[in-house]
Amino acid sequence: MRCYTPITPEILEEIKREVGPDAVIRAAGKLCEYEKDAGGDAYLPELVVEAKSSRQVGALLRLANIYSFPVTPRGLGTGLAGGSVPLFGGVVLSLARMNRILSIEKDNLVAVVEPGVVTRDLQDAVRREGLFYPPDPASLETCSIGGNAATNAGGPSCVKYGTTRDYVLGLEAVLPSGEIIVAGVRTRKGVVGYDLRHLLLGSEGTLGVITKLILKLIPHPQTVTTLVAFFPRLTSAMNAVTAMLVRGHVPCALEFLDDRCLEITGDLLPFKAGRSAKAMLIVETDGIQKVIETEMEAIGKICMEQGASDVVMAPDSLKRARIWEIRREVSLRIENRYPLYLHEDIVVPIGKIADMVGYLHEFEERYGIRVYSFGHAGDGNIHVNITAEDHKCKDRAEEGIADLLRLVLSMGGTISGEHGIGLAKKQFLPMELSAESIRVQKEIKKVFDPLNILNPGKIFE
Ligand SMILES: Cc1cc2nc3c(=O)[nH]c(=O)nc-3n(C[C@H](O)[C@H](O)[C@H](O)COP(=O)(O)OP(=O)(O)OC[C@H]3O[C@@H](n4cnc5c(N)ncnc54)[C@H](O)[C@@H]3O)c2cc1C
Repeated sequence: MRCYTPITPEILEEIKREVGPDAVIRAAGKLCEYEKDAGGDAYLPELVVEAKSSRQVGALLRLANIYSFPVTPRGLGTGLAGGSVPLFGGVVLSLARMNRILSIEKDNLVAVVEPGVVTRDLQDAVRREGLFYPPDPASLETCSIGGNAATNAGGPSCVKYGTTRDYVLGLEAVLPSGEIIVAGVRTRKGVVGYDLRHLLLGSEGTLGVITKLILKLIPHPQTVTTLVAFFPRLTSAMNAVTAMLVRGHVPCALEFLDDRCLEITGDLLPFKAGRSAKAMLIVETDGIQKVIETEMEAIGKICMEQGASDVVMAPDSLKRARIWEIRREVSLRIENRYPLYLHEDIVVPIGKIADMVGYLHEFEERYGIRVYSFGHAGDGNIHVNITAEDHKCKDRAEEGIADLLRLVLSMGGTISGEHGIGLAKKQFLPMELSAESIRVQKEIKKVFDPLNILNPGKIFE
């Protein structure tokens, strides 16, 4: 294993000279705010640097190469895979203060932003111009665009609009050497040279620090309408999802919650219907009013055909807001209730969703855990939330997770749809990727970061 140099007083002085003393956090009481993300593991940094420019990021990384200390980029720390956790100590590089929206170019349908902009703030700013930035992770009020780009975040709208990757036309990044590069374009198309932009997107802060993003915007849809359907069986709900998609409907959100999730958030449910349901689907369509009304009618019929017990069409705006609150609140409530909470975000092919959720009960019995499932049904992206009353159950639960992931892969799925590998899932990486693929990826990491100073210990064992 690589040995890193601790941050000595001399190194600290050099860092302060480059970034300014006010950008450096050293107080023990403050450092612990940067020791973990929204996932599990905690490792204390020796220092936090709050960068304000790409020049400062470059200077810090040059010092890291000279003195051999690790640097871990961090957006707003909402990641669920431990990506921004400083496994080997060293410096946490916070991008939170690089949070300016530099321009919204209405004629070009483009926004240029710094990485620390909160996702919701960008959505609101472009909305005021009649424009739309669709990627909407459930954490959008607390996460950053830079973090979204580094994890290729997705959200409910992904089923129609795609993930963050689909909206990043170009970016500026500081390489681990401290050099600054621009990758990608400002235009809708561009195929000049290797696509370093797409290599950096989703690389979880291991290949470069993203310091600017050129984002694609689209006109804001005229209107959106919602349908909520309750089912007596989770598998029927999933069959309805498959039926909607294969019959050509394109909702802009297609989310589900199982009965456990409904029970834990039941006090928020704004309908009498559904209190004893085993699954709830939230379906939204957007576009021109008349078109989406017709589409929603067809979707409602599909739900009934697949055995829905209740279908609520177009709930008013208060009820709609409440439904989305339930969707966002559910993981927080699970976290508050259970001492052990492990997040899996598997994806299976659309036609296999029903089989996958059908397996979860068997999995519970076999491994003595309790599973809450919810997520982006339209993408086959199921958040399997594994809980137990006692931390001692962790080893057993992890055995179960390995078993679950094997099943996912045998169905043609993938072990992570959006949270990434980070620290939390790196032990499972070889289950999905071949030895050759991992070798090539490690070689790429070496080209970018020969001294392994940028976010070491992530993705690969
Ligand atoms: C309640 C809740 C709901 C969530 N829902 C979703 C969801 O629906 N969809 C989804 O995709 N995720 C979701 N997440 C996970 C998380 O919010 C996303 O991964 C988000 O993109 C992380 O952004 P962040 O700013 O918090 O990044 P951080 O957690 O700070 O960092 C995440 C990773 O990105 C790297 N990184 C951050 N900024 C940069 C940068 N500027 N340059 C290079 N690397 C960088 C870090 O090193 C780390 O590896 C959820 C999390 C929570 C707590």
